[in-house]
Amino acid sequence: MISVTNVSKRFGSLEVLKTINANFELGRSYALIGPNGSGKTTLIKCILGMVMADEGSIEVDGESVLDHWSYRSKIGYMPQIGRYPDNMTIGQLFSMIKDLRSDSKVVDEELIEGFELDKMMDKRMHTLSGGTRQKVSAALAFLFDPKVLILDEPTAGLDPLAVEVIKDKILKEMERDKLFIITSHILSDLDELSSYALYLDNGSLIYNDSIALLKEETGEIRLGKAIATIMKRNRKKIKA
Ligand code: ADP
Ligand code: MG
Repeated sequence: MISVTNVSKRFGSLEVLKTINANFELGRSYALIGPNGSGKTTLIKCILGMVMADEGSIEVDGESVLDHWSYRSKIGYMPQIGRYPDNMTIGQLFSMIKDLRSDSKVVDEELIEGFELDKMMDKRMHTLSGGTRQKVSAALAFLFDPKVLILDEPTAGLDPLAVEVIKDKILKEMERDKLFIITSHILSDLDELSSYALYLDNGSLIYNDSIALLKEETGEIRLGKAIATIMKRNRKKIKA
């Protein structure tokens, strides 16, 4: 569904992505893992066409992301930091987005209800807590029943109840043959939600395969421990 081929990206002298190769298939959920600043959000933005790669190519459904924008309607994106017009109410924001996407046949409001956003439709965006903003971003990502969901730190800042709501939603939609790319620092969350892992360190892809294989290879039961093991291994290799 998504193929990333030899993608490199620099910001000035900083090499943020170094010759990344990865494929993402429908029906699978991928955990995108790596320390702060390792390039996760930049890779996501390259796939979405929000950042242009300096080298390499990215195709979604067989078509280059540079050729047209229409592929984006297949993708639901939950940004790490959602930016919305300050004075708009939650209700106005959802109406506006639905108007923009009036071509979409399906509207999935399950998360609006699950997060009880329907009870705060009159609240203005600038008055919302970080967690509530995250809920709005999540509800928007799932709104048009997209085939592909890219969630950048979806559980960050959410209260425990909301974390369970979004996890349940992800697991439910996974049953419907969707493709998920999820980043998080909370590896126990990803352990439940993903079966493939991509580990980025300093712009390089250190691991890209199934989580089961990663656990087997490192002899660890938990994803967090397994990742720590390959991280140490890689750092040693760089020093050597
Ligand atoms: P992650 O999501 O893994 O924390 P990012 O992809 O956000 O990492 O950032 C990777 C690196 O690129 C960081 O050092 C960050 O400061 C830098 N970076 C990201 N976006 C920009 C930008 N628009 N201009 C300059 N540097 C950027
Ligand atoms: Mg990020």
